[in-house]
Amino acid sequence: MSTSLDTLRRDFSGDIIEPGHPNYELASRSVLVAGSPTYVLRPAGVADVQSAVRFAAGTGLPLSVRGGGHGFAGFGTNDDGIVIDLSRITEIEVVDEDRHHVRVGGGATWGQVVDALAPYGLSISSGDTRSVGVGGLTLAGGIGWKVRKYGLALDNLVAAEVVLADGEVVHASAQWNADLFWAIRGGGGNFGVVTAFEFEAHVTTDVFFGQITFPAAELPVVLQGWAEYLRDAPEELTSSVEFANPFAGGPSAPVVVHVAFDGDDAELAARAIDPVRGLGTVLEDDVARIPAADMLVEGMVPPPGLQFVTRSGFVGKESAADVLGILAEVGAKEGSPIMAVRSVGGAVARVPEDATAYAHRQADLMFATTMAGPPPVLAAAQPAFDAVWARLTPHVSGAYSNFLSSAGDDDVAAVYPAETYERLAEAKREYDPGNLFAGNHNIRP
Ligand SMILES: Cc1cc2nc3c(=O)[nH]c(=O)nc-3n(C[C@H](O)[C@H](O)[C@H](O)COP(=O)(O)OP(=O)(O)OC[C@H]3O[C@@H](n4cnc5c(N)ncnc54)[C@H](O)[C@@H]3O)c2cc1C
Repeated sequence: MSTSLDTLRRDFSGDIIEPGHPNYELASRSVLVAGSPTYVLRPAGVADVQSAVRFAAGTGLPLSVRGGGHGFAGFGTNDDGIVIDLSRITEIEVVDEDRHHVRVGGGATWGQVVDALAPYGLSISSGDTRSVGVGGLTLAGGIGWKVRKYGLALDNLVAAEVVLADGEVVHASAQWNADLFWAIRGGGGNFGVVTAFEFEAHVTTDVFFGQITFPAAELPVVLQGWAEYLRDAPEELTSSVEFANPFAGGPSAPVVVHVAFDGDDAELAARAIDPVRGLGTVLEDDVARIPAADMLVEGMVPPPGLQFVTRSGFVGKESAADVLGILAEVGAKEGSPIMAVRSVGGAVARVPEDATAYAHRQADLMFATTMAGPPPVLAAAQPAFDAVWARLTPHVSGAYSNFLSSAGDDDVAAVYPAETYERLAEAKREYDPGNLFAGNHNIRP
């Protein structure tokens, strides 16, 4: 049953924002990408999401579902279509104190989650930024500061409430609609609007967290040594490396190693982190004991006109030295993209391959190369970026959709290997046969 605009206006208790509305300009854009949708619908609750989905299906207009709006590909908005913006659905509740089960509204951000859970001493493996949405990050993976100890954000999901393409609300878990539950853990927003996530949180203490920096000239040695160490380091330690940041000096920018030790035992933390300090000449080291919630930083809102091109890859043990060699060589030259490499492995790799639709369990590393600038600058830099990727591609084993600004067939194939894609397409045929939810790395029914 579709909903007409008149019915929507009568029944919808959230906001209907159209061009000319005082909030339109802000509501029309996602964080990184501008858009000009015909309607931005901001539901106040699940019934509104159902009406919004039925209305969108009836119009045949393109539909975007916006969680935290941080997607690089800009799927949180569109031109001439409908945006369902979940930013009013943010309730966070500890629903089972014994099992640490937490229900999180589909439009909540990770900042809201850490603030709500801190008084309970609980935490969920998530990402590194407060303003990023629980929705987009979780549905595609979730690689954050506790990933080696507690797995991806989606590994901690125990159930979800989903509004399907026909407007029906269903529960997805290991017991109910298990195929849907499998598909939403890695398959992104392809299957419906997730109005609530239920996670199993873990008890957290303070953590040891900070940055250790090294001279740019030591990049190749630090990078290779870091990856080798992290492969077998204690799983309490998660780490990432950033270099060649043009806003910090490009090729002469220091190599920044972020370390996050999940635990408050100073001796164990030092034992885990000291080998990182030993990788080269330490310029700065601000590692300190802090509350776990404070590891997440505020995300920046880029000034108008600044755009991002980002591309990611997963790397297995056998290819790590080759990929890191290329990244270090490129990073040492003027005009390099911003490079960031994250350690994965640990708990992620222990989940069986077919347990979720996230297909890159055995990767040691995930890296992202990012260019930022106004469109003409990006266009001029694109050939060099593509040339770097032509060298990297033979060595990478797939892509992480959460750090991909493009969504062509090659990108989708890199995110979902054939077997995973087939199984996702089967679920798509069951839950969204008309491909209403196409604003994502799309699985075609
Ligand atoms: C500053 C910054 C820091 C980041 N840090 C990390 C990090 O540490 N770790 C990491 O893994 N990733 C990180 N990311 C990547 C991030 O996970 C993705 O950009 C993710 O898509 C953002 O989710 P969102 O809900 O904010 O975005 P949106 O643009 O709102 O959504 C992204 C996609 O998810 C879908 N979606 C969102 N919510 C729902 C929902 N409730 N139901 C159905 N579909 C939904 C949207 O339709 C869209 O296709 C970062 C990104 C940025 C910009």
